[in-house]
Amino acid sequence: MRKQIAAANWKMNKTLAEGKELLSEIISADFQLTESRHVLFAIPFPYLTATSELIKAKTNMHITAQNCSNKTSGAYTGEVSVSMLKSIDINYCLVGHSERREYFAESNAILAEKVNLCLAESISPVFCCGEPLSVRDAATQNEFVELQLKESLFHLSADQIKNVIIAYEPIWAIGTGRTASAEQAQEMHAHIRSVIANQYGADIAENTSILYGGSVKGSNASEIFSMPDVDGGLVGGASLVATEFIQIINALK
Ligand code: PEP
Repeated sequence: MRKQIAAANWKMNKTLAEGKELLSEIISADFQLTESRHVLFAIPFPYLTATSELIKAKTNMHITAQNCSNKTSGAYTGEVSVSMLKSIDINYCLVGHSERREYFAESNAILAEKVNLCLAESISPVFCCGEPLSVRDAATQNEFVELQLKESLFHLSADQIKNVIIAYEPIWAIGTGRTASAEQAQEMHAHIRSVIANQYGADIAENTSILYGGSVKGSNASEIFSMPDVDGGLVGGASLVATEFIQIINALK
């Protein structure tokens, strides 16, 4: 059975004190995380250790990095390698968020390198894909997303792809308040699953978690997550408000 996942993406927000307060409020809420329901918190690098400490007694909650370097080590000032992440027990990392692609020129090829490095350290990449508005308006979103998957993931073996989580995030819906309709999300998620099935077989496709991201809130999470191919969400703005994110966790199937 594939995992249902609520993933928070704090981006470049919160001081350490504010972040610890937010996390404490969320994790003290009364929700049940079974084997198939997981929560990820993608947190700024400087707080990974302190926040890991806060959730260490919790099951199925994981502190997640927002990025990693595509280099292994060396003279890359300001970069953080996957082995550094592993050395502080981080087991998940966002790869290819649209803000990284847009502001830091991360190409599909660079993201393939990051995915490889994560998997080599047994870190599960949360691989983000999704189209800009111009592509959606031209109705070529399926081909666009398929190419992102092909160029960054489809060199992986079947055993490797099992450890990848996919997040479909239409760029026009990120931080805009404009959410894809549940039907639009389902349509793309079914497409992604069928592309994975063609490449790796139905069994692997069935077991791949595909999250939706783009203005998910407490009030729309249930409808979006109820779609058969939507396995939870990657959440920016609403993950910074404890009551909102708790509602989103409770909306997981
Ligand atoms: C995101 O940052 O991945 C995201 C989906 O942001 P928001 O929920 O604010 O649209």
